[in-house]
Amino acid sequence: MESALTARDRVGVQDFVLLENHTSEVAFIENLRKRFKENLIYTYIGSVLVSMNPYKELEIYTKQHMERYRGVNFYEVSPHIYAVADNAYRSMRTERRDQCILISGESGAGKTEASKKVLQYYAVTCPASEHVQTVKDRLLQSNPVLEAFGNAKTLRNDNSSRFGKYMDIQFDFKGAPVGGHIINYLLEKSRVVHQSHGERNFHIFYQLIEGGEDDLLRRLGLEKNAQQYQYLVKGNCPKVSSINDRNDWKIMRKALSIIGFTDDEVEELLNIIASVLHLGNVQYGGEDSGSAYITTETQIKYLARLLGVDGTVLKEALTHKKIIAKGEELMSPLNQEQAASARDALSKAIYGRTFTWLVNKINDSLAFKVWTHSNASVIGLLDIYGFEVFQNNSFEQFCINYCNEKLQQLFIELTLKSEQEEYEAEGITWEPVQYFNNKIICDLVEEKFKGIISILDEECLRPGDASDITFLEKLEDTVGGHAHFLTHKLADGKTRKVMGREEFRLIHYAGEVNYNVNGQLLNGGQRLKIKKPKEILNPPQSQCPLCTAPLTATQFKNSLAKLMEILMSKEPSYVRCIKPNDAKQAGRFDEVLIRHQVKYLGLMENLRVRRAGFAYRRRYETFLQRYKSLCPDTWPNWDGRLVDGVSTLVKYLGYKPEEYKLGRTKIFIRFPKTLFATEDALEV
Ligand code: ATP
Ligand code: MG
Repeated sequence: MESALTARDRVGVQDFVLLENHTSEVAFIENLRKRFKENLIYTYIGSVLVSMNPYKELEIYTKQHMERYRGVNFYEVSPHIYAVADNAYRSMRTERRDQCILISGESGAGKTEASKKVLQYYAVTCPASEHVQTVKDRLLQSNPVLEAFGNAKTLRNDNSSRFGKYMDIQFDFKGAPVGGHIINYLLEKSRVVHQSHGERNFHIFYQLIEGGEDDLLRRLGLEKNAQQYQYLVKGNCPKVSSINDRNDWKIMRKALSIIGFTDDEVEELLNIIASVLHLGNVQYGGEDSGSAYITTETQIKYLARLLGVDGTVLKEALTHKKIIAKGEELMSPLNQEQAASARDALSKAIYGRTFTWLVNKINDSLAFKVWTHSNASVIGLLDIYGFEVFQNNSFEQFCINYCNEKLQQLFIELTLKSEQEEYEAEGITWEPVQYFNNKIICDLVEEKFKGIISILDEECLRPGDASDITFLEKLEDTVGGHAHFLTHKLADGKTRKVMGREEFRLIHYAGEVNYNVNGQLLNGGQRLKIKKPKEILNPPQSQCPLCTAPLTATQFKNSLAKLMEILMSKEPSYVRCIKPNDAKQAGRFDEVLIRHQVKYLGLMENLRVRRAGFAYRRRYETFLQRYKSLCPDTWPNWDGRLVDGVSTLVKYLGYKPEEYKLGRTKIFIRFPKTLFATEDALEV
């Protein structure tokens, strides 16, 4: 048999806290590499799970594997996403505390796959009754539906989620899943009208065209050829080898039925999807006066029917804008270019609103009918975009990275602070860990009146000459001196050469990012919060959505604040996903790429904090109960104070004074290996 030492040489350690040199990034990456080579894609940092995308199917997700992790302690089996799922479930059951599993990582790192694995684990291992089976099915089936409408092929991931997702799974007092609720964040609506080279629109369009039955397509006025549609040809990538649109269409349709969509609702949904394709094909000509007119009557005919609006009204909406002059509402003609943007804005709004409607419908079907808080607990699953840094970073990356700052803040609040507080509460002295508190960056972005989002709002609302550049200038005036904010202007009036004139730089906790302000006002200032496609076409002035709905950036800020509140009330588990290479290939370990992710995910910091403290802690009664058989003085029962029992026990087991501390109610063990040895002793 292979000795423990050589095995460790070959497969590395399964918990980074066991690395001899825990401050060395080289050692960290080496350990990842060793394990990856052996198909060991999971490794812990304490209770945080680091997951490498294998880009191939591994035989580790069978029912037998699920059984192996069920009800078993973390440290008794090899690291696995099922262990995290099971641990959260057991904590929820035994401690009656709501849980959440936060999954992060960059595009293609495996977040969505991980969240699906968690859901499958609960679907298979949790108790079931007839009603529960329906809920389990619906929970599982919500994925193909949301993926059809919210995922797309990008350069980085053939099935990239273009929205953030938080899902609550609700359990009854028996631990059976009885309901669910989904919240979605920032759908990338721009994809509806434009895709970069090599990328696609949302899957649903291709599914419908490839898989839709002939009479359905006829009714929708669609041809069975994606090349016919302007909104589907921009990326020049109609087919993807890893995707079978026809098959996915069938899966999606079935999922809609299982979730409980009626035929009418499905029809309404597909009408809208088809409308977006028709809208994309609406073309304009120009009058001598410059005003745009529509040259594609067929599209208007289909659109009028599918959206249930009058053709003339539709045409006017697509070629005019409503203005108010001297208190009167007037329709002012648009030129060709403006009309085309109005058309695209409409498509995006319709699609975005349909996605929200879809999520609401799924939520209705997942709603736990006799829900009361007293007898139910929740596990939340967060699958949300990781920190993004591109060559050119826009408003979207700004929002995504701000979200990651907030999640880091939450991590600090929940993990580091609570860790220190627990030591204090237990009366244990230790060196406080120095860590960077990124609250300062969160404030820079979100503070009232003087944060970046406030300034953006202000510029969006300011009539007159507000532009992306005035926004940048205002930023310089307001937050110019902030330690985490830079532009090309230096304090002495000189110019910082490495930065463009239209960008600002934020020094995030994970690194520096330059954001281009082009289009920030446009994106940050959009407000469309509309009920029906008809209302999008012709918003009544009296209750104009422009006057009531909060601006996109503020809306996002508010929804993040709400998310933080939800997560704060729960006990977190973390899954950090890493993408091994950009080629989507199995077995390729691109060290540079991986090192970046280790940095952005803050893994070395995670490890440092974990090692600085105590890896494990157990309440005295739990500890004594489990290990009392190992010591003649505590077996079969210890009559004295619990703390004395534990003390007697660990002294008997040969724990060294630096390996553990005794608090008010718990024993704290510094290294996992101490506990491993005690566990091993039990087996003998
Ligand atoms: P995005 O942010 O773009 O949505 P993501 O982190 O959600 O990315 P996934 O869609 O989960 O990434 O994973 C990308 C692809 O990687 C999957 O489609 C699958 O092919 C592969 N993959 C991810 N995790 C696993 C796994 N555990 N086993 C096998 N393949 C995996
Ligand atoms: Mg995803």
